Amino acid sequence: MIEETAETNQTLLCSDCFTDEGLRIDAFKLGIEEHLKCPNCHSQEGRKLTKELIEALAWRFFVGGTTVRCDYGAAPVIQCNEHHFGRSDISPSIWLKDDIRLLEEAAQLGFFHYGPRLWMIGEVEPLKDLQDESKRLQIIKRVMKEYPVKTLVMGEKFYRLRICPQRPADPAEYDSPPIALAGKGRLDSPGFPIMYGSQDIDVCIHECRASTDDDIYVATLEPKRNLRLLDLTHLLEEDVTEFESLDMAIHMLFLARSHSYEISRAIALAAKEAGFDGIIYPSFFSLIRTGGHPFETTYGMSLRRYHPEREKYAEAYTIQNFALFGRPLENDLVSIKCINRLILTQVGYIGHFGPVEY
Ligand SMILES: [Zn+2]
Repeated sequence: MIEETAETNQTLLCSDCFTDEGLRIDAFKLGIEEHLKCPNCHSQEGRKLTKELIEALAWRFFVGGTTVRCDYGAAPVIQCNEHHFGRSDISPSIWLKDDIRLLEEAAQLGFFHYGPRLWMIGEVEPLKDLQDESKRLQIIKRVMKEYPVKTLVMGEKFYRLRICPQRPADPAEYDSPPIALAGKGRLDSPGFPIMYGSQDIDVCIHECRASTDDDIYVATLEPKRNLRLLDLTHLLEEDVTEFESLDMAIHMLFLARSHSYEISRAIALAAKEAGFDGIIYPSFFSLIRTGGHPFETTYGMSLRRYHPEREKYAEAYTIQNFALFGRPLENDLVSIKCINRLILTQVGYIGHFGPVEY
């Protein structure tokens, strides 16, 4: 055991070992500050990397860094693992060639072109049925039945943000847009306005695409009675593969861009019909806010479904948004507790690098 710990703590490389600038910066961010000579390049300043850190670096740069989004889902072009050690088949830029050799030798892994399992790029039956107008209703009926009700308790606060409202101190400014303007968002339709809110102010800022130039106001609201919401952030227990998973279908639907809106709008209308006051749905910005990676897998299996602590895993990477139906302030469903001006002093981007060709 002691030997093993010594081995895993051993420095194998450092950030100065690499030629690729992005890889060097990522390595610096991950590495340990330690002013000893690197066993490979002898630099004292480079941040030191153990085998475990090298694996994390390789994954972040080559797997995270080559992930492409599809209409629904996303998948990496490159994968790496120990089974492909000595059998790498990628063709990187010249400046990456030596870096890759270093990573392969130190972590005993190989890089290869990954043919994703098709569910990762949206080949999920319930999702395909949702896109098919003749089958959509059938799946929506399942959604109404299989997802749980969650209560937004009277007095539990949440936020709603407005950019440049005409009369910032007027509570009416923070209701849903007027009926005539409804139908542009993820869940509202013509004639069916929706109030979007969240308990996470940072998500409100993302959702509104607010920038430092904007005059921003945030209202703190609370329900005047318990509200019955359909909770679409709930992780469904299912006995099927990813290909047949309703959970995966809904998860992918809310991480998709505006081409998916006609489906989410149909779900909102059905929930309204079914007597709900609104929907809790996963924010499109969940991943940005939590630093998660979309549709993460080990050996092609979804971590959302097979992670040993899948509920905690899903929760950690999901930000909940509220969509309350109609005009809740006008309808006396919620009230304004407070309005503040919000000044953005810093907008942070945290990222990492990936290769340009492979
Ligand atoms: Zn080094």
